[in-house]
Amino acid sequence: MTTATAQWERVLLPNIEQDQTEWLDAYVAGGGYEMARKALGMAPADIIGVVKDSGLRGRGGAGFPTGMKWGFLPQGLFPRYLAVNADESEPGTCKDRPLMEQRPHSLIEGVICSCLAIEAQQAFIYIRGEYYKAARVMQQAVEEAYAKGFLGKNIFGQQGKNVDLVVHRGAGAYICGEETALLTSLEGYRGYPKLKPPFPAVSGLYGKPTIINNVETIVDVPHILRRGADWFKSWTHERTTGMRLYSVSGHVKKPGVYELPPTVTLKDLIYDICGGIRNDHELKFVIPGGSSVPWLKPHQIDIPMSHEGVAAAGSMLGSSAVMVMDHTVCPVWAVANLSHFYHHESCGQCTPCREGSAWMHKILRRIEQGGGRMEDLDTLRDIAGEGKPGSGMISGKSICALGDAAAWPVGSALGQFHDEFVEHIEKGCCPYKNKRYWMAGGRFVNETFEKMPVL
Ligand code: SF4
Repeated sequence: MTTATAQWERVLLPNIEQDQTEWLDAYVAGGGYEMARKALGMAPADIIGVVKDSGLRGRGGAGFPTGMKWGFLPQGLFPRYLAVNADESEPGTCKDRPLMEQRPHSLIEGVICSCLAIEAQQAFIYIRGEYYKAARVMQQAVEEAYAKGFLGKNIFGQQGKNVDLVVHRGAGAYICGEETALLTSLEGYRGYPKLKPPFPAVSGLYGKPTIINNVETIVDVPHILRRGADWFKSWTHERTTGMRLYSVSGHVKKPGVYELPPTVTLKDLIYDICGGIRNDHELKFVIPGGSSVPWLKPHQIDIPMSHEGVAAAGSMLGSSAVMVMDHTVCPVWAVANLSHFYHHESCGQCTPCREGSAWMHKILRRIEQGGGRMEDLDTLRDIAGEGKPGSGMISGKSICALGDAAAWPVGSALGQFHDEFVEHIEKGCCPYKNKRYWMAGGRFVNETFEKMPVL
């Protein structure tokens, strides 16, 4: 059975095509909140045990085992907090948004089950500022749940079982998706990341033990409690378990959010499930896990979309956001574009990230506009390294992972498309746009290459 004809039961977003919000009555009629009631009767350690057995790994990007993270909470230290990371800002990633807009109560039920597991009575959903609709839907769903007695004091009529939930909107900074920055922002300060350790599980929000999990991770929890760890593990590739949401964007015929097992190959995802490349163009490259991860060329895509499968090809699964570029895309332009994003979003605390991201962006823009020099490539290589952890002047030398995120695409693009960087410099123009840029009257001007005088 090919991927195109295979059928998998979708549990996270069963009716994604309808694009409708499932409000409380409909959610309850479909069996919603049964697992929250069940979790009320379970010992916290038993809930954590099931989640550990399932092998659930965080869906936000790092892929850390969820049950293990919960197990890091120090014994006997209260209060504790749960913060749901809904600051989905990595370019290409758009899977948490439909979860919140269409199934807000599945997230609230996940929050209740998770709070009972980690013995937290206060939870927060930190939602990306630009997600206006998702924030509005979540707020309305939280109010429904409070009105029904599913949130607040003595939930579901159980004395002493309290779960309060606040929906908090961010102000649109990418860096607030980094867990320590998220907590700093939640406390009301500027969203600056902090050095770790201490990790938030030990000292997080207001200095108290705090668990931070991605939206999809939390939504998975009630499904695991309902059907068991073995059901979740029935879709496994090496140490990656469970169905997950893949956001596919770019030059495929059918971009979208797809719920699939980790055994699906990147090739099948692009050609079978998403219908292939637009206008039947050639595939140029794929960014398989959000914009910060190393790029893959067409001969590298016959790999399972698991953490291990993508790592074996030299990249990362990250947030499972797949960006597909066809042969019309200039890789120098693409990486200059990404570089601008990371430079813009750097919080500026660390010199390697602040200066390095700016430096790379300026050089890449210069090369793309036809003013590059051969020695620029050495400079870029020195700054960005080889698109691998720890290489170059930035990766591993900054407080948070944004420094790495800024460097990896540049190092990767240089490695994968070195000849095209050289071509830009030798021709003094972008061969894709057939244009060259030159300074005239103090500003860049461009014309089609054919019309340009020979310099
Ligand atoms: Fe800020 Fe960049 Fe340092 Fe992260 S790595 S703390 S974004 S300057």
